[in-house]
Amino acid sequence: MSTLSSRENWSRRAALLRPSGDNFIDGRYVAAQAHGRFDSINPSNGQLLAQVARSQESDVDLAVNRSLQAWRDRRWRGLAPRQRMDVLMRWADLVEQNTEELALLETLDMGKPINDVLGIDLPEVTRTLRYFAECIDKMEGSVTSTAPGALHLVLHEPLGVVGAITPWNYPLLMAVWKLAPILAAGNCVVLKPAEQAPLSCTRLAALFMEAGGPAGVFNLVNGLGPEAGRALALHPDVVKLSFTGSTTVGKLLLTYAGQSNMKRVALETGGKSPQVFLPDLYDLDAAVDRAIGGIFDNAGQVCNAGSRLLVHRDIHDAFVARFTSRAPQLYRPGDPLDPATTLGPLVSQAHRLKVQRCIERGIAEGARAVVMGEALSGHLEQGAFLAPTLFVDADNRMSIAQDEIFGPVATVIPFTNDDEAIALANDSIYGLAASVWTRDLNRSHRFVRDLEAGVVWVNCFGDGDMTQPFGGYKQSGNSRDKHMMSLMSYTQTKSAWMATT
Ligand code: ADP
Repeated sequence: MSTLSSRENWSRRAALLRPSGDNFIDGRYVAAQAHGRFDSINPSNGQLLAQVARSQESDVDLAVNRSLQAWRDRRWRGLAPRQRMDVLMRWADLVEQNTEELALLETLDMGKPINDVLGIDLPEVTRTLRYFAECIDKMEGSVTSTAPGALHLVLHEPLGVVGAITPWNYPLLMAVWKLAPILAAGNCVVLKPAEQAPLSCTRLAALFMEAGGPAGVFNLVNGLGPEAGRALALHPDVVKLSFTGSTTVGKLLLTYAGQSNMKRVALETGGKSPQVFLPDLYDLDAAVDRAIGGIFDNAGQVCNAGSRLLVHRDIHDAFVARFTSRAPQLYRPGDPLDPATTLGPLVSQAHRLKVQRCIERGIAEGARAVVMGEALSGHLEQGAFLAPTLFVDADNRMSIAQDEIFGPVATVIPFTNDDEAIALANDSIYGLAASVWTRDLNRSHRFVRDLEAGVVWVNCFGDGDMTQPFGGYKQSGNSRDKHMMSLMSYTQTKSAWMATT
């Protein structure tokens, strides 16, 4: 557990870090073969953190080949389930023992407030590792009912070398949502973390070895999406690709699969999650606080962020008044190394500009932007900070209600009845998550049934545990993370029909 409690202590510890941005292949850190590198920048102050391997096709090929070797000689899938469980459990223990270092890497690399990493991301990482470790010896095949003269076994086998391409908003957690079930099922894996925040995952790969994971089973290549990511997605020896990221890149990956070996492609992509607030909800103040958290946590850089607030006309004005007064109290920009900070910078200056352009477009389309909080001053001016914004006087066809902004920007849209609310909620290419706030059980059931989303929350937002399958409808993706079904998705079914006469 952390012994660090103040900004000064965290900053001192941060100054001692020497993060590696190398690849991790066959059990050791290696530079990219052509020695290409790119800078990893701390978005809270613009300073250089580390130089990261800019891998090309040959580096990806090396990583996949080493994983393929490990797959073929069965050094991982050939272990007894208990042995693989022990490795994943020790890995979780090591994450806990290295909490301070991993939390710092996450905060420095992507700007997330340190207390969020310690309180949300890292506990969820260890829970994920342990959940899937516990599943390993509970996976069972079956014997079907057949006529006499045959014994029919249905077996679940691992797939082979799986590629994982992950985003920067929860760098460790999104990677572990893939790595844990992929490895638990007995596969080998090559991970390409996001170039904006690759350092924590690079450390995580070494911890897998320390936990007793055989060399070559989990290889990591750093690099840019259109270079290393593309090479992994096109590789003919990768049998499945597991992706979390934008819908645009998700569509590209489907084409790469078609151009190469028809690999399976599991996608968790964008979102524009509606939250429906009905006039009979239990407690407006409490609901608004949750709505604020649902969009401004992680500075809105969350795929299921509740960015569309559909509010019944009877409570619309009270909702907006409460939202705009509470949000600046709950989310104050600050140095993410300060444990009191609740709103860090966006991941990069480039991303901040992109979000700003979305805001400008919303204003040009006629919506009114309520910017919450004071102007940034002092050292914060160097960082990619952005004050939270709420759009009012908006309608659902505007870009601010249709496009995934991935920043601290929410849009309020009024409605008059349940049919209209459901139509508005479903008027989106996305379908990752949704919520409804009401004290009427029948009404909530209707919303659960009619909302087109992979996750529907009633009287809460963002709640869940490892038993919750997480993934989207429509263009939010085609797969589910977490839950046993994620583990099974990294297996293939073999039917063994044995004649017994
Ligand atoms: P964002 O827009 O939020 O950065 P992306 O979908 O671009 O999200 O990135 C998610 C992941 O996809 C990152 O690891 C990134 O490097 C990778 N990626 C981006 N472009 C490609 C591509 N053409 N092929 C494969 N991977 C890519």
